[in-house]
Amino acid sequence: MRSKLSFRLSDISRSPTILQAEAHISTVSDSANFYISSLPTPAPRSSLDGNLEVDVAILGGGFAGVSTALHLAERGLSVALLEAKTVGFGASGRNGGQVLPGLSAGLDGIAKRNGMKVARALWDESVEAVDLVRRLTQRHGISCDLTEGAVTLAVKPKHFKGFTEEKAWLEGEFGYGGLEVWSPEEARVVVRSQRYCGGLYDPRAPHLHPLAFVRGLAFAAETAGARIFENSPVTAIEMDRPVKRLLTGKGAMSARTLVLAGNAYIGKLVPWAAARMMPVASCIVATEPLGSRIGDLLTKSISACDANIVLDYFRPTPDGRLLFGGLANYSGREPSDIAGVLGRRMRHVFPQLAQTRITHAWGGLIDISLYREPLIGAMKDQVFVMQGFSGHGVALATLSGQRVAATILGDEAALSPYDALPRPSFPGGPLRTLGLVLGMAMLKMKDRWA
Ligand SMILES: Cc1cc2nc3c(=O)[nH]c(=O)nc-3n(C[C@H](O)[C@H](O)[C@H](O)COP(=O)(O)OP(=O)(O)OC[C@H]3O[C@@H](n4cnc5c(N)ncnc54)[C@H](O)[C@@H]3O)c2cc1C
Repeated sequence: MRSKLSFRLSDISRSPTILQAEAHISTVSDSANFYISSLPTPAPRSSLDGNLEVDVAILGGGFAGVSTALHLAERGLSVALLEAKTVGFGASGRNGGQVLPGLSAGLDGIAKRNGMKVARALWDESVEAVDLVRRLTQRHGISCDLTEGAVTLAVKPKHFKGFTEEKAWLEGEFGYGGLEVWSPEEARVVVRSQRYCGGLYDPRAPHLHPLAFVRGLAFAAETAGARIFENSPVTAIEMDRPVKRLLTGKGAMSARTLVLAGNAYIGKLVPWAAARMMPVASCIVATEPLGSRIGDLLTKSISACDANIVLDYFRPTPDGRLLFGGLANYSGREPSDIAGVLGRRMRHVFPQLAQTRITHAWGGLIDISLYREPLIGAMKDQVFVMQGFSGHGVALATLSGQRVAATILGDEAALSPYDALPRPSFPGGPLRTLGLVLGMAMLKMKDRWA
């Protein structure tokens, strides 16, 4: 069943032929991004200078855009990608690195809004997405510290009770076995914090170095024949004609098919897409290397997040740091003192870190959709959009690129699980940010009191 707010074709036909707006590339901090500092500086790619004609033109060098380029180039199409800054500049090079099955919306919410058939199809997609990440790292020899194991932690007895039901539901309705419910004592053996009272452990949900992964994918795409241009912000798009164009200040890329993968970093360049997504700031800090003291926090190399709505997440790095993420700012702005604000949260969870130095602190934009369901598919003839992963996109954005590529190559069923989802815009016009900030304050209160 579709919501009253769902996507209508008339929305599109009203949009102007040439959508022109300043590319609004966020300045959300990357100056102290641990992922950047832990990798060698890559050779710079050239920017687009002049005109280029290809089969498929892609905007955006994150998981979604790069995966599309890879899967199309492997099948022999001529494909080129324009990235405003450098590959992985957006959320793909800033995230928590948790490669989790499932969707941000939650299966129960998806089932209530869209029916069990859709929920089952999307769950299967999410499991396939995790597996695709594994296969891509193996097939292309991408060295990105992929390590299996993720736990969701109960902050309240209510969460813990829910884990047993969730495990049974996933096994019974979705055929997903192998989950373990950890008692409070079992959870504290692995995650050495008094904050948590149990866990739901998934041995088949890895974590990885996301920037190394996206850079590896980009290298694989270029090896397969794709062209990637960096420092090439698209400032205007012509999409209402058979041959479409992405325009930059210094050139233009023409193609019969466009793929728009700018996600939360694209600003208002495509008003139809912007109306259906809210950029939300989230932040991460990294501690100094802890040596053997990392064992005072985590006794397994797994990733963890709590079961709150506004959640904390953390994991160890191979060089013995703790990466700790959280905060969600619906105004799209990060706090001016990320290390101070997030450091306090981290020490609340792990008082053992009272004297530990934070060496890196950075923010990024999460692409929230109204129902936290992804928007993956055609927004008009031969113009594809991927966004709305809602903080759960490491695996799904990678798969969405593969699915969009398959559709362009003629597989009419490749996007059918996503076509079943409504595509509502956010209500509220100019007041929508204020509404969301108030909504978020209420969710935080719910985390505290409910
Ligand atoms: C702090 C944080 C933590 C997260 N943690 C997790 C996690 O642990 N697990 C998980 O599954 N998900 C997580 N996510 C979400 C996940 O990172 C995203 O869903 C995913 O990276 C989206 O990939 P993408 O390719 O769609 O977009 P992006 O990676 O944002 O890529 C979009 C790219 O488009 C470019 N671009 C934008 N506009 C233009 C333009 N006009 N011209 C040219 N290029 C343009 C941008 O520069 C950017 O590089 C997190 C996100 C954040 C911010």
